[in-house]
Amino acid sequence: MSESVMIKVEKLNKSFGDLHVLKDIDFTVKESDVVCLIGASGSGKSTLLRCLNFLEIKDSGNIVIEGDKIESDTHDLNKVRTKVGMVFQHFHLFPHKTVIENVMEAPVYVKGIPKKEAMEEARKLLKKVGLSDKENVYPSKLSGGQKQRVAIARALAMKPDVMLFDEPTSALDPELVGEVLATMKELAEEGMTMVVVTHEMGFAREVADWAVYMHDGKIVEVGHPEELFNNPKEARTKAFLDSVL
Ligand code: ADP
Ligand code: MG
Repeated sequence: MSESVMIKVEKLNKSFGDLHVLKDIDFTVKESDVVCLIGASGSGKSTLLRCLNFLEIKDSGNIVIEGDKIESDTHDLNKVRTKVGMVFQHFHLFPHKTVIENVMEAPVYVKGIPKKEAMEEARKLLKKVGLSDKENVYPSKLSGGQKQRVAIARALAMKPDVMLFDEPTSALDPELVGEVLATMKELAEEGMTMVVVTHEMGFAREVADWAVYMHDGKIVEVGHPEELFNNPKEARTKAFLDSVL
């Protein structure tokens, strides 16, 4: 496995008004790492992911993506975002576009890739997520699990180097969770670098290289999943795990 650093976060701080949400976060993700981020609701997990994708702009600290220190006033954030794909809990598909149009949208309109080429690539990605037969269907006709797999294909269409997942299975009926986790596991096995906010401890144990526990805007503990889940060093980590496992 390569040791090159994909994301490096140093002393990252973010507040919303008086609410200090991220407090001196230090966080490194190496190429092909799968990192699962766990922690109670409100601990700042989504805000951290959104800062990594520049949907939120940090107050202070450094965010270095593939060696490039990104600042919102000097970098084209749309261009940076092509390297860092994101999948949300609530899919965010375009309802008035078909499945394949959803997947083609950003390559065509953001990257300027010719439609024919974008369509060929979209077909490959839909095949990969097991939805070849749905290409001309509108999202409203899909199950939640299928919608999320389209959202994954859509993010992959930009050929990102890192994929961020924010509770990708939390909005799904239990019987649909497995198909989405299986797609994510496949991506991980292909070497995709991934940061996954999840409550799926089974997935974290099986797929993650690292588990990171966040509490109240801070990273409290980092470890290999087995180690962190079986043998947490910090009392707060243990209390959280006791509440979810
Ligand atoms: P998590 O994903 O771990 O549940 P979040 O990052 O969503 O946590 O939220 C952390 C805290 O920041 C919460 O108290 C939340 O209410 C607050 N917060 C998140 N986004 C905003 C926002 N855009 N404006 C104000 N407060 C926010
Ligand atoms: Mg969240």
